[in-house]
Amino acid sequence: MGTLSLSNVTKTFGKVEVIKGVDLTVDDGEFCVFVGPSGCGKSTLLRMIAGLEDVTSGDVRLDGDRINDLAPAKREIAMVFQTYALYPHLSVRDNMGLGLKQLGTPKAQITAAVEKAATMLALEPLMDRRPSEMSGGQRQRVAIGRAIVRTPKLFLFDEPLSNLDAALRVATRIEIARLHRELDATMIYVTHDQVEAMTLADKIVVLRAGLVEQVGRPMDLYNDPDNTFVAGFIGSPQ
Ligand code: ADP
Ligand code: MG
Repeated sequence: MGTLSLSNVTKTFGKVEVIKGVDLTVDDGEFCVFVGPSGCGKSTLLRMIAGLEDVTSGDVRLDGDRINDLAPAKREIAMVFQTYALYPHLSVRDNMGLGLKQLGTPKAQITAAVEKAATMLALEPLMDRRPSEMSGGQRQRVAIGRAIVRTPKLFLFDEPLSNLDAALRVATRIEIARLHRELDATMIYVTHDQVEAMTLADKIVVLRAGLVEQVGRPMDLYNDPDNTFVAGFIGSPQ
């Protein structure tokens, strides 16, 4: 299970309301892509879902349970960042296992989970390296592996491929699509790459200035955007 629902979620920084009342359901197993201009609130929404940012008002629910006040580590949610956010002083193995270690998971169980994720991502030869000894693409695979180790119900990806070159972006995108099938988890994925959105998404959410502008299946948005703003993101020739 892994159904996420947001009801009337808002976020205010100081006096500025940056998320202005978002209602959204992401169904169990769905691959949901967020698109929208820089500054529209995509990262803030993900960070609230992950618990890295407080929700100003509204409800965040996972499988019906309100999780607004739950610590990030206790949420069955894992986030992958554009900048990888790995600990530089830790090996790949320890970076991947850290989340479970912090939860007090027995060592043997951590080792098994880390090995399983390493196999899924072909990371075995890199397990003793530190982040500085790897390429950007390898670091991002480690960050994805770290998320998998936690066996979350929901994965959040915030522009995970933006720092990679074109060829690596394609390869990593295909890998993420494969993981979505194999893990049978719910995923929310932020991108400004139209090809990523069209190829990965079951559902695309177009955000504009802290509000949902339109939600739909990729081809429905492509063929029938509500307005020129949506068409600008999904690229239907008008
Ligand atoms: P996106 O990811 O879509 O580019 P963000 O969620 O990063 O957008 O930001 C949405 C808005 O909230 C922007 O106007 C940004 O400047 C503002 N914002 C984000 N984080 C903070 C913060 N910690 N303090 C103040 N303003 C913030
Ligand atoms: Mg962002």
